Amino acid sequence: MPTLEVHKFGGTSVGDATCIRNAAALVAGACGPDRQVVVACSAMVGVTNSLVAIAEASAQGKAAGARNGLQGLRIRHHHVLASLGVEEAAGKEIRRRMDLILDELYDLVGASVVLGEITPRTWDRLVSSGEKLLVPLFAAALDAEGIPAVSLNADTFLETDGRHCSASPLGGEANQGIVDALRPLLEAGKVPVVTGFCGRSPDGATTTLGRGATDFTATILAGALKANEVHIWTDVAGVFSTDPRVVPEARPVLQLHYREAAELSFYGAKVLHQRTMIPVSGLNIPVRIRSTFAPDAPGTVVDGRRLAGSHPVKALSAVREHALLSVEGTGMAGVPGVAARVFGALAARSISVTMISQSSSEASICLAVPQGQAPQAQAALQEALALELSRGQVEEVLLRPNVGMVAAVGLGMAHTPGISGRLFGALGTAGVNVLAIAQGSSELNVTVAVDGPEVDDTLRAIHTEFGLDRIDSGIETERYLDLLLLGCGSIGREFVAQVLERRSHVFERFGLHPRVVAIADRSGFLFEPTGFDLPRLREILDAKAAGGRLTDQDGATAGTPVEMVNAALQYRLCRPVLVDVSDSSGAHEAWLAALAQRCDVATANKKPLAGDLAVFESLQATAAQHHRLLRCEATVGAGLPVVDTLEMLLHTGDQLVSAAGSLSGTLGFLMTRLEEGEPFSAAVREAVDLGYTEPDPVADLSGEDVARKATILGRLSGLAGEGAKVMLEGLVDPAWAGTPVPELLERLERELDGPMAARVAAAKERGAALRFVARVERDRLVVGPTEVPADSALGMLRGTDNQVVFQSERYQARPLVITGPGAGVEVTAMGVLGDVLRIAAERSAARRLP
Ligand code: ASP
Ligand code: MG
Repeated sequence: MPTLEVHKFGGTSVGDATCIRNAAALVAGACGPDRQVVVACSAMVGVTNSLVAIAEASAQGKAAGARNGLQGLRIRHHHVLASLGVEEAAGKEIRRRMDLILDELYDLVGASVVLGEITPRTWDRLVSSGEKLLVPLFAAALDAEGIPAVSLNADTFLETDGRHCSASPLGGEANQGIVDALRPLLEAGKVPVVTGFCGRSPDGATTTLGRGATDFTATILAGALKANEVHIWTDVAGVFSTDPRVVPEARPVLQLHYREAAELSFYGAKVLHQRTMIPVSGLNIPVRIRSTFAPDAPGTVVDGRRLAGSHPVKALSAVREHALLSVEGTGMAGVPGVAARVFGALAARSISVTMISQSSSEASICLAVPQGQAPQAQAALQEALALELSRGQVEEVLLRPNVGMVAAVGLGMAHTPGISGRLFGALGTAGVNVLAIAQGSSELNVTVAVDGPEVDDTLRAIHTEFGLDRIDSGIETERYLDLLLLGCGSIGREFVAQVLERRSHVFERFGLHPRVVAIADRSGFLFEPTGFDLPRLREILDAKAAGGRLTDQDGATAGTPVEMVNAALQYRLCRPVLVDVSDSSGAHEAWLAALAQRCDVATANKKPLAGDLAVFESLQATAAQHHRLLRCEATVGAGLPVVDTLEMLLHTGDQLVSAAGSLSGTLGFLMTRLEEGEPFSAAVREAVDLGYTEPDPVADLSGEDVARKATILGRLSGLAGEGAKVMLEGLVDPAWAGTPVPELLERLERELDGPMAARVAAAKERGAALRFVARVERDRLVVGPTEVPADSALGMLRGTDNQVVFQSERYQARPLVITGPGAGVEVTAMGVLGDVLRIAAERSAARRLP
């Protein structure tokens, strides 16, 4: 028996041609020789709302507005069809079908305009058309994936009752209609693509199942077909512990029981339609909620398991814009039938009651109704209780507007005493005034009514009290490596590219998923607590590569790096690492903020380490004090393990005597060219053309950058700290900085080609080679062109390779030499990545040996 899955796609997941293609690819991935798939689709995002607006406009006789709306829908769908690149004949056929639907819509609008009203029956017909416009497009996208697909309108086979606008499926034998419509297609190896949201009434009219009901369609189909699983594809990675816009620490919940899911969706959690679980819970068909934008995330599975785990309360949801009505009066006690009349009066006006509580003294009944219906509900109650009111048995029917209700949901509450105590304790501490309380006898749900403006605080207080920021949201979510980028120039972009390339490696080796959560440049920063998704990250980096500023992006904050760090670290990030790929000299402020808040630092930026010694020391001290790592491999030898080796020597108790080397790929290249007889100016021109130099070559030629590296090496080794003498001889005077390149080259030719050639020749005569050497000794740093024996390691160094020679007590006679590629964006980014991975290894939950 092949397995059968129903995949539902929400409006944002089919919002444009790219999304539709992406969704079709997900379906194609789920199909197989033994795996059948049924698709249920919503209309494209916004389309149902437009249709509702069109329906309203036509009922009000606004013909032009309604027609404009339809024209907009026509253009949007034609555009998507064109972008899908469907082959011509098929495209024509789809266009014909879409036009038939649109023509009917024009007729319906015309008729409603004339009649000046829209009946529920017409409304359903009109508003359900968005799905009908979409399914042929989805089927075409599947065909393009090589998956034969057929689009179907559910109002030809999904039988419902006749309650327009919120019909219920008939179920039972009527399910045969679904089986008859879909089974033959599945058996023929096709994927049925079914419209969500609608069905067929007993008299053959189109009905709708309520807003957002495509979820329900999916489970109705699954129930009828006895499917193995339902996948609800949406734009969020599962059901969250609460709305992350209110409580940023909210996390996806890995598993929910059917009843928990139903309770949450009833209480305002928008991700699932309220009735979704009805058709599948009895059959124990699991429902998976996943995001098309993060298909690898575990999402939430809803099934019949009662996994309370460590969290008796699993999630919270809130409904706002309600009013509380209370019927008060000591005379009600012991009088039977009052409650019945209260609810009867409301039911008669189709007002749904969201929450009820009655005190055991029977002196008050309190209920919540939607704000819009509150005055009507109050009048209904006053009318129904007129007699009691006149006799004084009921004192008054009070209305308290602008109230919200927060529900804490979890099956585990039923078995754990003291839950409500903790809940109210937390609210008391947060200073929230509880207006009414309701707890079902199932103990699955505790609901509190609070003043509207206090809803957010209520959610936060309960969320924190029950540790929902640590709820098991799948192994994955706990296993992130959250990266905060400082700077996104060429090294930053290359770093991100390398991280992305090695994602699966990082996961395999360290059990962690790296994700970029924040990016800063000089203009400001962007922050996304759960990580930028790939397309967004690419978009941001591409815009930067094109010369844009981060603050040109939506959602950016014009703040400093320190503000970024503080803003980001307020959230519960996973193993945060601040990655400094900027060249800002003030960046240490952000590092200090990070280190003091449980965030490690990896840097390619030399300036904070090579500047003021007090800054260097306070950075080291802060890192130590907070048990954080401050890694800076890329600041000395780019991608070479120089700092790493130095640490190894020091850890093992060796005494460093000196470290010397060629620490600049650019200068190394120039020295080689000079040795080969090329004039200095020509060699510099070549280096510029090859992209080896900084934009202003003087930055390299002056030796200042090398001096910074030497300073860091001196400080890290403990050889040259306070009072160290720095002797720097550059190839050119730093005062030449800012000279335009052509002019600089001319000046080099005029003033330095001769002397430089003579110097190289003189060295050669002495059997030596001229190298640009940085030498770190006790209390002194010497940086500049130096003669070394031609047959020494440094003398044999060629081209852009870097080299460091450590001389220590242990490595006395034969020094320890590290040589390798040293210049360029790629190796520098690699150096930073190496540091980030060392941090990952340190912080990894499952630490593994190399
Ligand atoms: N398109 C319908 C709506 O917006 C159904 C759905 O999205 O599930 O309500
Ligand atoms: Mg929905």
